[in-house]
Amino acid sequence: NSGQKQIGVCLVGLGNYSSTVLAPALQITKHCKLTGIVTGSPWKIPKWQKRYSIPDQNVYSYDTMHEIANNPEIDVIYIVVPTGLHAKYAIRAANAGKHVWCEKPMAKTEVECLSIIEACKKNKVKLTIGYRMQHELNTKTIIGWAKTKPYGNIKTLRAEIGYNVGNPARTWRLDSELGGGTMYDLGVYALNASRYTTGEEPISVSAKQMTTRPDIFTETDETTHFTLTFPSGAIAFGKTSVGKSMHELYVDCENGWYTLAPFSMYAGVQGKASDGTLLNIPVRNQQALQMDDDALSILNNTPVMVPGEEGMKDIRIVEAIYKAAKTDTEIKL
Ligand code: NDP
Repeated sequence: NSGQKQIGVCLVGLGNYSSTVLAPALQITKHCKLTGIVTGSPWKIPKWQKRYSIPDQNVYSYDTMHEIANNPEIDVIYIVVPTGLHAKYAIRAANAGKHVWCEKPMAKTEVECLSIIEACKKNKVKLTIGYRMQHELNTKTIIGWAKTKPYGNIKTLRAEIGYNVGNPARTWRLDSELGGGTMYDLGVYALNASRYTTGEEPISVSAKQMTTRPDIFTETDETTHFTLTFPSGAIAFGKTSVGKSMHELYVDCENGWYTLAPFSMYAGVQGKASDGTLLNIPVRNQQALQMDDDALSILNNTPVMVPGEEGMKDIRIVEAIYKAAKTDTEIKL
């Protein structure tokens, strides 16, 4: 029984998502408490220590984070660094004997994903991927519909996520070595939605990539379109871009339709179905919900909702999408 017990969470990488979203969310979680930080930027430390009352002995660098093994105040190490570094630090976290939460996209390659899964198995710690949508309540309704099929079988779906980013900052998101790329960063939401909406695994993929700004997107994709075919015959059309704003999941079934728009933003996920059913359950804070769900699976020793295998399935398909676009061929999965 979880009671009121809280697990101690250590954030690794104090960038935008950690500082503006996860740390504030950890102030309202019921079952988690922010107890530690790992950073490579010493100037960030005093502000974090003061704001979140983090004692000196719970502050680490990437080089000392293995010492978390000896810290009873930390139960979970949450990896929030650039995607290309997830595997390196997630494995380090697992080897410290702590449970691992790893941000999406899980890693750059299927091989890296597997190495994270194996490190967690070896160290007998839980691993979960930060797919917050799978914890969001309206999304959970349509995940349930994949089984109950209230509008009949799915014929096609569109999953589109994009932001019109005027002048993208020269950060790791434009650096393919560090795991940049719009398909990795945003496209996984459309891909994951295609899989959770159908409840199926795709059998083939084709894709196209393009850019309006070849001077900026020299090594990563600005826009990716992909088409997935599923065993049932359902087809998913995915789009992702940092040149165009779009935020819709639209599902066309034999006997009706349903939609979530937006389907992947931090707040305001909502939608409706062709018979007037509204998908409008309010969610106060997605990340708090996600972290509390994941904390309860630790406290109660129950399976996590989004295991590493789920993140790895997407990355295998992401790799196929890049390959399909490059070779202009349909790839069997
Ligand atoms: P930022 O660039 O804002 O922050 C990344 C942080 O990682 C840096 O501030 C730094 O922290 C640390 N870092 C360690 N090594 C490097 C390096 N070589 N180059 C750059 N940074 C480094 O990224 P975000 O916070 O936006 O994203 C981090 C992760 O979170 C990504 O995997 C991203 O996909 C995921 N994310 C998930 C979201 C979601 O909704 N689930 C939303 C946004 C991001 P320090 O200085 O403390 O060492």
